[in-house]
Amino acid sequence: METITAERTKTKQLPDEKGYFGEYGGAYLPPQLVEEMQKITESYYRIIETEEFKTELIRLNRDYTGRPSPVYHAKSLSQKVGGAQIYFKREDLNHTGAHKINHCLGEVLLAKKMGKKKVIAETGAGQHGVALATAAALLDMQCEIHMGEVDIAKEHPNVIRMKILGAKVVPVTFGLKTLKEAVDSAFMAYMQDPVTQFYAIGSVVGPHPFPMMVRDFQQIVGEEARAQFQQKTGKLPDHLVACVGGGSNAIGLFTAFLEDKNVQIHGVEPSGKGFKDGEHAATLTLGKPGVIHGFMCYLLQNENGEPSPVHSIASGLDYPGVGPQHSYLKDIERIRYETINDTEAIEAFSIMSKNEGIIPALESSHAIAFAIKLASSLEPSETILVNLSGRGDKDIDFIAESYGDMIGID
Ligand SMILES: *Cc1c(COP(=O)(O)O)cnc(C)c1O
Repeated sequence: METITAERTKTKQLPDEKGYFGEYGGAYLPPQLVEEMQKITESYYRIIETEEFKTELIRLNRDYTGRPSPVYHAKSLSQKVGGAQIYFKREDLNHTGAHKINHCLGEVLLAKKMGKKKVIAETGAGQHGVALATAAALLDMQCEIHMGEVDIAKEHPNVIRMKILGAKVVPVTFGLKTLKEAVDSAFMAYMQDPVTQFYAIGSVVGPHPFPMMVRDFQQIVGEEARAQFQQKTGKLPDHLVACVGGGSNAIGLFTAFLEDKNVQIHGVEPSGKGFKDGEHAATLTLGKPGVIHGFMCYLLQNENGEPSPVHSIASGLDYPGVGPQHSYLKDIERIRYETINDTEAIEAFSIMSKNEGIIPALESSHAIAFAIKLASSLEPSETILVNLSGRGDKDIDFIAESYGDMIGID
């Protein structure tokens, strides 16, 4: 297959030069950071155009991560569901087990070329932390990861991985002690010294230029998948499905198909334990526009505009905001955002494991659960391409402990 770069679709995409996707995005920042973000934006545009950067990123994606990841026809699952044919883009097969390595290699390579000494970030499920610690180890950068205490307890193997890779893990002990507070904490640490440190954000969120940069580094997923799917079937998929936390794996798959009007696109958010405040993280479904972590987006918030507490069984989806481009794509009705609850996700986790021999991440299980529902309402001639954003090894202890009886392993 031809090697794919981020070039092809980039020029047609938003944001505008201030970082807005419609009314969403931008950079709502203290003055000392405004200038630093402008520097990052300028460096980004300059550095990604250099042959040296392009060649190095292509080499790492191919030889280090193992790209292109395959597109796989899940015949057994499709047959069991008895409707449309389900295909998976296998981001779970990447080195480190998820899509996040795609933007981490890009961000750390950029930070290094900018002369930064240290990358700093938040992590939810620990996947971004592990991917960033990996890229930092590879590219000889210091790495500091902020993680909520609740997530540290839940995602123990990833905490150990980060430490083995040489990263410093900072436990976050305030608020709900999950992803939102981890971002707050990492942001504060970054503010101490934005000149020698680089905030390598973990999704298509945060102030401009991060939603754009992370999308550009992730869109290789959709570029590959579009070509692979056509090669396999002679057509484009009828439906795309991906889970949405901040929205990076989703936008990574979707970007290459946004202009294909016949491809229906579904983003899947977690409705957790239910639709009451604090029980879910269904931001696009139930949120209203607001500002969080330096950008405007749909936001789950109280009357005072403060972010609401959120819950999902999948730590990586547990965030009260969402990428500004998703907020925009919802408003223009290019993408439909749906919800899947904790129980449905666990069931999909089990069905996928037992029928395909693939243990999916709990985050990805939300996309699988929705794809199964959707498939059963469609004809066998129709197709669904799901982004399998990561593998579930990180989740097995938690599942066994809390849901062992439900999936019949006790
Ligand atoms: C982090 C994570 C997600 C959610 O993040 P997005 O930015 O919404 O993609 C989804 N799946 C896996 C496996 C993750 O690690």
